Amino acid sequence: MRDYSDHTDDRHPDRDVEITEINSYVIDGNFEWNLIEIETDAGVTGIGEAYRGGGIPELVAYTNRFLVGENPLDVERVVKRIIQEMSGHGGTTGKVVTAASGIEIALWDIAGKILGLPVYQLLGSKYRDEIRIYCDTHAGEAYRVADGATAYANDDAYSPEAYADAAAEVTDMGFTALKFDLDLPMDNTPDRTNGRLTNGAIEHKREIVETVRSEIGYDIDLAFDCHWEYSVESAKRLARELEPFKLMWLEDLLPPENLDAQKAVTASTHTPIATGENRFRVHELSDLLYDQGVDIITPDPTTVGGLAETMKIASRAEENYIPISPHNVCSPIGTMACVHLCAALPNFDVLEYHALEVDWWDDLVAQDDPLIQDGYIAVPEKPGLGVELDERVASRHLLDGDATL
Ligand code: MG
Repeated sequence: MRDYSDHTDDRHPDRDVEITEINSYVIDGNFEWNLIEIETDAGVTGIGEAYRGGGIPELVAYTNRFLVGENPLDVERVVKRIIQEMSGHGGTTGKVVTAASGIEIALWDIAGKILGLPVYQLLGSKYRDEIRIYCDTHAGEAYRVADGATAYANDDAYSPEAYADAAAEVTDMGFTALKFDLDLPMDNTPDRTNGRLTNGAIEHKREIVETVRSEIGYDIDLAFDCHWEYSVESAKRLARELEPFKLMWLEDLLPPENLDAQKAVTASTHTPIATGENRFRVHELSDLLYDQGVDIITPDPTTVGGLAETMKIASRAEENYIPISPHNVCSPIGTMACVHLCAALPNFDVLEYHALEVDWWDDLVAQDDPLIQDGYIAVPEKPGLGVELDERVASRHLLDGDATL
């Protein structure tokens, strides 16, 4: 078999570092943020974040069995080793890859701190000093997660005017790009599960988009997310109906598994089509990119396999002249990992921010100024991720029953 393990005799004596412990804890934000801390015998600790959802702490704890003693500077090899060791547990995709993503980010933080370089520099290059952020926002309480499941508000929350009001609030904050959800409870009539949109449902969505455009104009980039809900014919009808409104993109119209269906919808419309956030590793995105099956690719670096894996996806996208706009619903830790990544990608467009309702989001990291200013995040120049967790704030927001920091 291939041997991805560490050969300690090969380590350069100046960089003879070992992982001593890997821990994780869950912060109860607007999502459950899975933070991962890796300690080393060099006195350097790294922090990362894996995408939300259950099972991550258990998987991270399991990796202690084979990662303690590993060299944290061999970032990509360590990720290959995790996937190899866990592949018999279904680890080539899914939650293991998500856990590995958070571990990988913590390894980059360690490597940067030890080598004295910001993570973007370790990834290769810096193409920009500031990262443009799009704000994911909601009309009323259009979408929230309660006990891990989607919780819809009542129909009043989805009026076109409610969307326009929320759009005005966000643009007043300085954002030049924003995104709303467009999959609504009223889509589920007359049948709750067949994914077919009535003419009335499509007309309601058209009115929402038109009203938002009337409020903010056409100089603000505007996207809508549909969360994998529709049949191919309904997806095509909706995308064509929205063509006059010059969207930044229309996201995740179809269930994610069938790439041929995705390609057919993308080819059918002038509305830019985006997808990618719930796929794993470069292998699950390559076909879409090489077949022009998507207009904007939106992988989640904390899901897909980490920063280096997202670099590979971005490279294939660049080869096919496709921009990349990473999905991100993270705390400031995962967000700043994405900021370094986006600085290093020539074909980056815009990065998601999804925590408008969390008024302590900035407080989770120790720093004076808000991370997002006028819709941009400055790329840090400090070694590693360039941000440190404020442990007092983190302790106050641990998920109930979770271990202490
Ligand atoms: Mg989405």
